[in-house]
Amino acid sequence: MSSTNAIRHDWTLSEVRELFERPFNDLLFEAQTVHRQHFDPNEVQVSTLLSIKTGACPEDCMYCPQSGHYNTGLEKEKLLEVEKVVEQARAAKETGATRFCMGAAWRSPTKKDLPYVLDMVRQVKSLGMETCMTLGMLTEDQADELAEAGLDYYNHNLDTSERYYNHIITTRTYQDRLDTLDNVRKAGMKVCCGGIMGMGEEDEDRAGFLMQLANLPVHPESVPINQLIKIPGTPLEEVEDLDPFEFVRTIAVARILMPKSHVRLSAGREDMNDQMQALCFMAGANSIFYGDTLLTADNPEADADRRLFRRLGIRPEPLSTNRDDADEAAELVSRVEKERQAQLFYDAANA
Ligand code: SF4
Repeated sequence: MSSTNAIRHDWTLSEVRELFERPFNDLLFEAQTVHRQHFDPNEVQVSTLLSIKTGACPEDCMYCPQSGHYNTGLEKEKLLEVEKVVEQARAAKETGATRFCMGAAWRSPTKKDLPYVLDMVRQVKSLGMETCMTLGMLTEDQADELAEAGLDYYNHNLDTSERYYNHIITTRTYQDRLDTLDNVRKAGMKVCCGGIMGMGEEDEDRAGFLMQLANLPVHPESVPINQLIKIPGTPLEEVEDLDPFEFVRTIAVARILMPKSHVRLSAGREDMNDQMQALCFMAGANSIFYGDTLLTADNPEADADRRLFRRLGIRPEPLSTNRDDADEAAELVSRVEKERQAQLFYDAANA
């Protein structure tokens, strides 16, 4: 067994599949070994998520209750007022969240909405929290504006492998998603990018999806691995359950391929028992959403999380010990610069 020390961006599908096919204990041992080289194994980063604009999304992501294409009974809501968002960020901070993630069900932000969103970023940031947004596709200019307002992370998921993608979304392409990720990087923001397991994909798709993430020019700093929540009214409501061990394997392989990224145990956690979540932490997951909705001191889901942390001896990761930002920034700048030069060279060669 070889512990992976180097950060690689050249994984082949057969290498990734070989990791998935290892005996479970070997795979978990390897993942935990890699994890300990880069992180405190007993710390988990805690984020809070708020939907700032819910429902009526023009995209057709087949897992999503917010898509306007499916009738899931979800109430549509307009963009939240900035003051309400800040109030909820403050409540999240009081319960220990260090990052506040704001999500809007849009194809991409409009000219009219962007100023409000920028104001949210500035104000949440001024509370001393990290900020993250997910607003759909971004142009280069929009990404620049968000970065200038102080946005730390942008979430934009690839969802699955390139091969399986068309079975899940038809209203935007895989390349559209990669372009947005590229715009986010060029603007200097950190990337949060992951996917959903259990959407009827095959083993090869989970491997292909992780290979795609690991072969990005810079690994996403945050990699949410979601388990499908089957929502009645969506096309995936009756898809077959994924073997839970296959989900744990996906976390472990993500940890091995992207050793310095925070791997987030994300949506679907509420359907997992404590033992399953503990296995995911063992496999290298080190980030969660604390509670699923607005956090208040008596949020029962947040209480269950706190109890689980106590039973496992896990501490929330303080903001100051998040990865070595200086190293990370230097790596990012140098890789993006190399990419730009390669592109210039390519353009010149083809002029
Ligand atoms: S873009 Fe986002 S909000 Fe819209 S349907 Fe897809 S996952 Fe849902």
